[in-house]
Amino acid sequence: MDYQQILEEIEIEIQPLFGQGKVADYIPALGDVDADQFGMSITLFDGTQFNVGDADKLFSIQSISKVFTFTLALKYLGSELYKRVGREPSGNPFNSLIQLEYENGIPRNPFINAGAIVITDTLITHYKNDTKAFDEILLFIKSIAGDKSINIDSVVASSEMEHAYRNLALTNLMKSFGNIKNDAISLVQTYFNHCALQMNTQTLSRAMLYLANHGIDPISNKAYITKSQAKRINAVMLTCGHYDASGDFAFKVGVSGKSGVGGGIVAVIPQKMGICVWSPALNEQGNSLIGTKALELFTTKTGLSIF
Ligand code: GLN
Repeated sequence: MDYQQILEEIEIEIQPLFGQGKVADYIPALGDVDADQFGMSITLFDGTQFNVGDADKLFSIQSISKVFTFTLALKYLGSELYKRVGREPSGNPFNSLIQLEYENGIPRNPFINAGAIVITDTLITHYKNDTKAFDEILLFIKSIAGDKSINIDSVVASSEMEHAYRNLALTNLMKSFGNIKNDAISLVQTYFNHCALQMNTQTLSRAMLYLANHGIDPISNKAYITKSQAKRINAVMLTCGHYDASGDFAFKVGVSGKSGVGGGIVAVIPQKMGICVWSPALNEQGNSLIGTKALELFTTKTGLSIF
């Protein structure tokens, strides 16, 4: 298959969609990003890469970081983790408080904000303090992505901290139920810090290879997690990776994927490749509008959906 040709066709076909959707302005620093950008990358198991558009441009990975923190927490806690966070789709927006009250402070899954905050809390406990936890998360992502230069956009991180009302509310509500063990403020700051990491579609597509290959990175041969853990992360990405649009993403695209409000989406094609697409304008559910369309075009043209 001529993947380069397919990416170039997609880049042309998404052009009419520029102008639709909206960048995430609830984080003021993200509101300043130019919406009319698009990049897409594929990385194969031997490291061969195909790119189109703004594939080398750094963007805020936001909730894509939740894939890596979930992986790290599973690695250290195993299935104990599921006592504190579930694995069912929420059917609610990513930052919703409603279900948490009904369900006694146990978030539905690791990809909604509440679930990701619990995961970060377990990592702070595991590594003994917030600074060490963030350093280890960053080292882990650098290793998975094969890129030592990954760093935090501190303007985005502090902009999020200044408008942290909802995430602090989620954290405090969970703490009232006993499901948060560490200090709420430093926990939320650590969560924002990993959301504010900057990467591009090239490195993120490469970072998905361990999930396409049963937990083992086919380039470095490092085994990050077990085969069964990799299967489960992919399952949770498929069912919960796009919040209340996860069903729609499975319906239209048909692969495991995870979005972030920075406009990135990562996707996994089992035994074949990692994919990342980026375009900052979001749909109603907070997922990249053009990114979703580009992935739909990709699985339609290649037949590489899992269904
Ligand atoms: N840091 C963002 C938040 O907490 C992540 C949300 C997202 O990417 N969906 O709101």
